Amino acid sequence: TIGMIALDQHGHVAAGTSTNGLTHKVPGRVGDSPVVGAGAYADSLAGGAAATGDGDIMMRFLPSYLAVELMRAGADPSAACKSAISRIKRHYSEFFGAIICANTTGHYGAACNKAPGLSQFHYMVSNCQSDTPILKSVDCF
Ligand code: ASP
Repeated sequence: TIGMIALDQHGHVAAGTSTNGLTHKVPGRVGDSPVVGAGAYADSLAGGAAATGDGDIMMRFLPSYLAVELMRAGADPSAACKSAISRIKRHYSEFFGAIICANTTGHYGAACNKAPGLSQFHYMVSNCQSDTPILKSVDCF
């Protein structure tokens, strides 16, 4: 999945995802990516989020919606991302997944579930102050 959150100078927030469709996918499978609130969610009054990973598990928890609602309630983006991952982790401790979050003030964060093959998650940040995108990473928990 390629997930993206965009914030413009007027404060509009947008989020979206592509998907790799997951390996060996069942014909007709939808997955989490195109489902609003699962793959991505945005509200210009709160922020945006986009998720990647085991879509069939993650979509049951609407992690992007949850993260945006937590930011609306005042959580900073990193904490919101972490809570969204924790919610899934409680039921599926070994799931493979990560989420990025950004609020309307341009603050951002990410979180991922520590799983075989996933100990760190990398993401890019681009803004009008820097010429080139910056590579960021977060340790999975
Ligand atoms: N979440 C995607 C899916 O399940 C896969 C991915 O993140 O690459 O379709």
